[in-house]
Amino acid sequence: MNNIAILCSGGDVSGMNPALKQFVEYSLEKNLTPYFIYDGFEGLIDNEIKKASYCDVAGIITRGGTKIGSARSKRFMKKKFRQIAKDNLKKLNIDMLIVLGGDGSFRGMDIFYKEHGIKFCGIPSTIDNDINGTDYCLGVDTALNIIKTSIDAIRDTASSFKRAFVVEIMGRDCGYLALITHLTSGSELCLIPEIPYDLKNYENEFKKQIKNGRRYFIAIVSEGIKQDSQIIADWFENTIGIESRVSILGHIQRGGNPTVKDRLMAYKFIVNAIDELLQGTKESIICYEEKGFNFKSIKEVTSTTKVLDKKLLEYLKN
Ligand code: ATP
Repeated sequence: MNNIAILCSGGDVSGMNPALKQFVEYSLEKNLTPYFIYDGFEGLIDNEIKKASYCDVAGIITRGGTKIGSARSKRFMKKKFRQIAKDNLKKLNIDMLIVLGGDGSFRGMDIFYKEHGIKFCGIPSTIDNDINGTDYCLGVDTALNIIKTSIDAIRDTASSFKRAFVVEIMGRDCGYLALITHLTSGSELCLIPEIPYDLKNYENEFKKQIKNGRRYFIAIVSEGIKQDSQIIADWFENTIGIESRVSILGHIQRGGNPTVKDRLMAYKFIVNAIDELLQGTKESIICYEEKGFNFKSIKEVTSTTKVLDKKLLEYLKN
């Protein structure tokens, strides 16, 4: 029986637990012995590696985050600690690894593979949806649904008090979450790093709308625009003439009960990743595109900046 291990690295996302469950179940189905590595690369260095069984994954499919913990590891950047990590895996005869993480984690694994030849498959897992080569990253759908629920609630209070709400959304340098939220939540303004903006362009229109009876505004602002959300709120208050509030959704966007889509994607990512490893592919990232799953080189995935779908951006311009 071959041994296979899984770890989570970088920011946690909702969908990791369903992936862990499927990892254990599908590995056993394939006559592999599954291992959990706790707390990312830190646990790999500290030998926090334990055999996993059905009992470990019972009841976790409904939970956000990750049962085995995630971490960032400064030590893994150093060769001597990667050697310790490799020795730990060798002691347990583990020669296949699945890594749930972002492009940083994949870069680390690429170096690890080149040094020590441990086969791995990366599963893109970040709510930012900013990994090049894949249309979907695990956790995105749950984050979008949490944001949707939050904005629906904010709308209630915005309309009651005649207020403008500036809602700041995560995404690092990528406006994907903010853009999809704008298109699906009926907000009046959307500011994302991919499109330059000038608030002056909205002034006359928004003032006219207030005159015509508009009671409230919802503005979706991506954290990537690098302008303080409070400045946008002050603009609503001082220039448009409506009381304003800022709401920074923050880390609630990363947690919560995984949606059906994320549970299903976790299932598909794991099954395809394990199959690919068993077929002998030594290092790859499993990418999802509308036409289906596709395996790309680390270089292709990590060396180019992700560009947002032009068609989606067109919607924002209209
Ligand atoms: P997130 O979406 O949360 O940013 P990420 O995987 O991109 O996820 P990073 O913090 O960039 O998160 O990377 C996670 C870990 O990967 C780092 O803490 C480090 O241990 C490892 N790593 C990243 N780059 C390298 C590298 N060049 N060499 C070795 N290890 C690396």
